[in-house]
Amino acid sequence: MTVKQFEAESKRLLDMMIHSIYSKREVFLRELISNASDAMDKMYYRALTDDKVTFNQSDYYIKISTDKDNRTLTISDNGIGMTKEELEQNLGTIAKSGSLAFKKDNEIKDGFDIIGQFGVGFYAAFMVADKVSVTSRAVDQDQAYHWYSEGAEGYAIEEATKETVGTTITLTIKESNEDDDFEQFLDLHQLQTIVKTYSDFIRYPIKMDLTEE
Ligand code: ADP
Ligand code: MG
Repeated sequence: MTVKQFEAESKRLLDMMIHSIYSKREVFLRELISNASDAMDKMYYRALTDDKVTFNQSDYYIKISTDKDNRTLTISDNGIGMTKEELEQNLGTIAKSGSLAFKKDNEIKDGFDIIGQFGVGFYAAFMVADKVSVTSRAVDQDQAYHWYSEGAEGYAIEEATKETVGTTITLTIKESNEDDDFEQFLDLHQLQTIVKTYSDFIRYPIKMDLTEE
């Protein structure tokens, strides 16, 4: 598998996330949930112009699950998904709204302000995870792809199997140390509190199986 380098701009943002001293790391979840919600909105817009796509709001939801033994947190949606090219463009380079604001602001003064004001999008995952894995199948596509990164080293993309259209993001949560508690991001009850705090306005159901703990 070939490892590709992130764009210079992306790498700068990524490094900032990895070494973040930002105290509100939990906002990563807001970023991933809003991306999932956006992806489902895109299905709605697609249905308006594409006869082959129908959109029933009640079919769409976000699912959050954890696996404490493997230290993973998984967020999945059945939104529009990403093609191989989209995975490459959207996750390997910075061109999108949140990050664009970051770019305009230009100087990395203080991670705090940037995250607070604009949100930094997908890369926020690296504040809490040392590995990020994205499996996605785009609408109209049979082939799914897997995007994988351990941060600064770059990322890799390979073919994957996925039965349904949408995106599944799996974070391998960092080990806690004396300064930081990362265990909270593996605990569904604590995740539920974070969801209520930051993602209450999301129009799609956010499902978590709290009985599995
Ligand atoms: P923004 O949301 O501001 O565009 P992000 O960094 O959060 O920036 O996301 C970058 C892009 O990656 C999004 O614009 C979208 O195209 C794509 N993306 C991220 N998450 C998903 C997802 N769950 N489903 C489909 N596309 C996604
Ligand atoms: Mg976003």
